[in-house]
Amino acid sequence: DHGYIEAAIGPMYSGKSEELIRRLRRAKIAKQKVQVFKPAIDNRYSKVDVVSHNGDKIEGICISNSEEILELLEDDTEVVGIDEIQFLDRGIVHICRTLANRGLRVIVAGLDMDFRGEPFGPTPEILAISEFVDKLTAVCMVCGNPATRTQRLIDGKPARYDEPTILVGAKESYEARCRLHHEVKRG
Ligand code: ADP
Repeated sequence: DHGYIEAAIGPMYSGKSEELIRRLRRAKIAKQKVQVFKPAIDNRYSKVDVVSHNGDKIEGICISNSEEILELLEDDTEVVGIDEIQFLDRGIVHICRTLANRGLRVIVAGLDMDFRGEPFGPTPEILAISEFVDKLTAVCMVCGNPATRTQRLIDGKPARYDEPTILVGAKESYEARCRLHHEVKRG
């Protein structure tokens, strides 16, 4: 049997986690052995749930770098799910390729763009080597049209371009926006 990579990507609230959970649940119904990974900063090797914004969840394992997927992979695993791939190191591209070459089905979910609307981390490379890509959309919080971007708000105002991609401890929030209503302050 040959493996392959499939990706569900899009902005925040586009249903990436929901879609990942749906596919993994169906694999389990088909009696396939599934393992789910998710990057985290502090809870090394601990169990963690992959949770969608509508409250749906599936049990996963926290990893702090992409190599840990190979270390934690069990012999009989047939399907590997990875959520929030944008936060993983570039090594994840090679890991996904290796797993698919070994015959596994690899399902990844993550943000395609950061709050600036620019390609996010390793996601673009993973998309390039995936067999199947679903680009999901959310609902724009300004006009209701399909949202392809994630708006970062700091104290309710659009974030500046030069702010770090990952801000710790700021009063920030995110909402889905279409291209027209996505704002990034410059200069
Ligand atoms: P993602 O993983 O892409 O962030 P989730 O799967 O966690 O998305 O959540 C998707 C759910 O978020 C939707 O089913 C819906 O209930 C909820 N939701 C909240 N805000 C929005 C929005 N602006 N557009 C679409 N869905 C939204």
